[in-house]
Amino acid sequence: MNLILLGAPGAGKGTQAEKICEKLSIPAISTGNMLREAMANGTEMGLKAKSFIDAGKLVPDEVVIGIIRERLQAADCKNGFILDGFPRTIPQAEALDEMGVRIDRVIDIEVSNEKIAARLSGRRVCLKCGATYHVEYKAPKTEGVCDACGDTLVQRKDDMPETVLDRLKTYHEQTEPLKDYYAAKGILRVVEGQEAVADTTARTMQALED
Ligand code: AMP
Repeated sequence: MNLILLGAPGAGKGTQAEKICEKLSIPAISTGNMLREAMANGTEMGLKAKSFIDAGKLVPDEVVIGIIRERLQAADCKNGFILDGFPRTIPQAEALDEMGVRIDRVIDIEVSNEKIAARLSGRRVCLKCGATYHVEYKAPKTEGVCDACGDTLVQRKDDMPETVLDRLKTYHEQTEPLKDYYAAKGILRVVEGQEAVADTTARTMQALED
């Protein structure tokens, strides 16, 4: 099954991507994680992306389209994949169509702006393995340390309150129109993501079968 997870930053796409990945044994592909990895490794692409990411802006379409084009050719995508954070603009969605990639389902996780701001301010991430935590809702066993790989957890620069507002604005202006794009194809399912993670997961799993 080829899936897209849509939703504002902090809506819980990454967490749901992990759950679906476990259930269906298909890879979760996060352009945000791939860009952060490139930044941490100091690659040319990482350096190029850094100023956009730190400012809460979108990285240019051609960069992320290039990343996805290459990633989807990997052998582990043969039986399906979950895209988390791509596409984020109409041209990115059109690029997927032009690549001949068939999308079976698009799950849109809906969360209010107020809730998003609270979630992002408490989010902590592991830059080494990409695992995410929340100081209140999903705390690591040891404060500040990644359960999965033992590396130090940090707050993303773009999760700071002033940048979060820019990211939400970008989301509403550039990414939300994708809902209509995929609704018109009859493959959009909207999931309420406001409450407990387990409830959102149950709704997401249901939406995969509808
Ligand atoms: P995320 O971890 O998905 O919230 O992504 C973090 C940041 O990476 C975003 O705020 C953008 O700056 C950049 N980014 C990730 N995915 C994309 C994309 N599909 N298009 C443009 N920029 C992206």
